Amino acid sequence: MRWICKDDIEQCLTSAWRQSAQKAIENINAVTTPEERKAILKKAASTQIWRDFYELLPTNLKRKCWYCEAEEIRSDTPVDHFRPKNKVEEEANHEGYWWLAFDWENYRCACTYCNSRRVFEDTEGGKACCFPLVDPTKRAFSPSDDTNQEQPDLLDPFDPDDWKLLWFDNDGMPEPIPSADKEQQRKVSNSVMIFHLHETKIVRKRNNIRIDIDRAVVKLKKATTDGDVASERDAKSTLRKMIRETEMHSKAAIVYLRAHRDLPAVKAILELD
Ligand SMILES: [Zn+2]
Repeated sequence: MRWICKDDIEQCLTSAWRQSAQKAIENINAVTTPEERKAILKKAASTQIWRDFYELLPTNLKRKCWYCEAEEIRSDTPVDHFRPKNKVEEEANHEGYWWLAFDWENYRCACTYCNSRRVFEDTEGGKACCFPLVDPTKRAFSPSDDTNQEQPDLLDPFDPDDWKLLWFDNDGMPEPIPSADKEQQRKVSNSVMIFHLHETKIVRKRNNIRIDIDRAVVKLKKATTDGDVASERDAKSTLRKMIRETEMHSKAAIVYLRAHRDLPAVKAILELD
């Protein structure tokens, strides 16, 4: 999970994009039946608005999936509607949050693994139309309902605190941060399923990151003992690069580097007091 600052997204949006989104909002508000709304959402012109949004973002904001931090998003529809636009898995009578279909604040850049339902080896997951709430009685069903009353029971990249709740064990499996309370634990376990964060390939990648971190730390320790300034600088650069926000799986790299925080140089890299 990556934290995304909403302001960074907002400043990328052009007035032309805003206008086409606004027009689409007016169109979908003007029709009265679910069938007409579904037809609008299926139109190529609608898909184009989501694609154009994605195109407007700079590379550093879309190079990795906001949910799983996996490699470059190569998907036809790389934009997930955080509140699903067509239906809601947890609520049979819900028509979907169609009124938020053209609202950029409901968009999250996501890879196909996170965005679509799929089964892979021993695991299954993918967001599809899932949107669990802590209190389902607070759910918004129409534009006149207040979505701010909803408390999503899954992690949100736009939330400044949510990304901190996701942790990883030494095999690369996702888990809640050790200090998580019951509610936070449930939010993380929902997210693991919904974003398919326990999928085999991604777990393996995190495990490789742990191995690379451990190696660089061994190199750093040796260089420090030997007084080898050049090697010490190399090892520090490797570690600093791995935890950069733009790197793949940088959250996992932070978790694994923290295991070595007794080392003053590691503590400095992590900027811990
Ligand atoms: Zn993903």
